[in-house]
Amino acid sequence: PDPERDRLIQAYEWSAKFYHYLLKNTEHGTAAMDYLRSRNFSDKMIDQFQIGYAPDRWDTLLQFLEKRNFDLAEMEKGGLLSARGEGKGYVDRFRGRIIFPIANRTGKVIAFAGRILGEGQPKYLNSPESRLFNKSRILYNLHQSKASIRKTRQIVLFEGYGDVISAWEAGVHNGVATMGTSLTDSHVVLMKSLADEIILSYDGDRAGQAAAIKAVPMLEGTGLRVKIALLPSGLDPDDFISKHGGDRFREQVIESAVSSIKFKLIYLKKNHILLEEDGKIAYVKEALEVIASLHSSTEREVYLREIASELELSYDSLKQDCNLLRASLQ
Ligand code: ATP
Ligand code: MN
Ligand code: MN
Ligand code: MN
Repeated sequence: PDPERDRLIQAYEWSAKFYHYLLKNTEHGTAAMDYLRSRNFSDKMIDQFQIGYAPDRWDTLLQFLEKRNFDLAEMEKGGLLSARGEGKGYVDRFRGRIIFPIANRTGKVIAFAGRILGEGQPKYLNSPESRLFNKSRILYNLHQSKASIRKTRQIVLFEGYGDVISAWEAGVHNGVATMGTSLTDSHVVLMKSLADEIILSYDGDRAGQAAAIKAVPMLEGTGLRVKIALLPSGLDPDDFISKHGGDRFREQVIESAVSSIKFKLIYLKKNHILLEEDGKIAYVKEALEVIASLHSSTEREVYLREIASELELSYDSLKQDCNLLRASLQ
């Protein structure tokens, strides 16, 4: 028994309901609601993910918690309140932000992520780590997605809350996200215990691609199969769904996810100008290193033939170079 932990969970659960209520039913929430609608968040998703709004005031949650006799010092430690700059007392930690409640595996709210309305810094403000909340272990939405994960033995991993939510509405019910921090070994171990395959659906920008390149060996190292969902540059999954709809997202992004080798080749190719000899040769060299590491000769042949036809090279010379490389790796 851990009464302090139980009280903090109680406070988060009630605060989540309170912020959700303020968003939906009061004037405080009007601008936030307009913002969410402008981003195509539906009422159904706002309810299901219990999205809320923390008004831009100092004492909205403070008063709510005080009335319910919560210990304010405890609430500050748990990340719902902040200590006042000067003097005694507390203020609301989340002000003027959309609230995304973060639940543990059993569905209890243990932290908040607060997004600013529109532009501004920091874009997201999270609850601090607490005895409830360890960022490097939590996967957003696992409590709702675990049923589908159990059935499919597959997890779709996103970068952001909005991506998980929009994907859910598009019919992807096995989606989770890390908390902005990069993927940790704890996340990987957790996912390995639940699934056999991970589809990485990161943002279609440089940061997202680089994060995927880093994640692949971590995941494959535990024996998980990995596929990568490709997005046009500049769009994240949420943007793609807003722009092109959920059906296209499922069919053209999730169901068309490519193997990790294919992704690496695409990724390497972006750094070279293939119309120039130097660029072509440099790309082939890097690509061969990836292909040479494949154990299956069938797989090697598949990728070598693709590159051969794409770059108008002979399969034989590529194969020869690949074999030389393999020999030098032994
Ligand atoms: P939005 O669509 O609302 O702009 P996003 O989820 O697309 O949000 P990204 O900039 O792509 O935001 O960042 C991906 C994720 O990284 C976020 O969902 C959040 O978890 C985390 N993140 C981004 N910026 C911050 C920040 N300043 N502090 C903490 N976490 C952040
Ligand atoms: Mn991003
Ligand atoms: Mn994003
Ligand atoms: Mn986004």
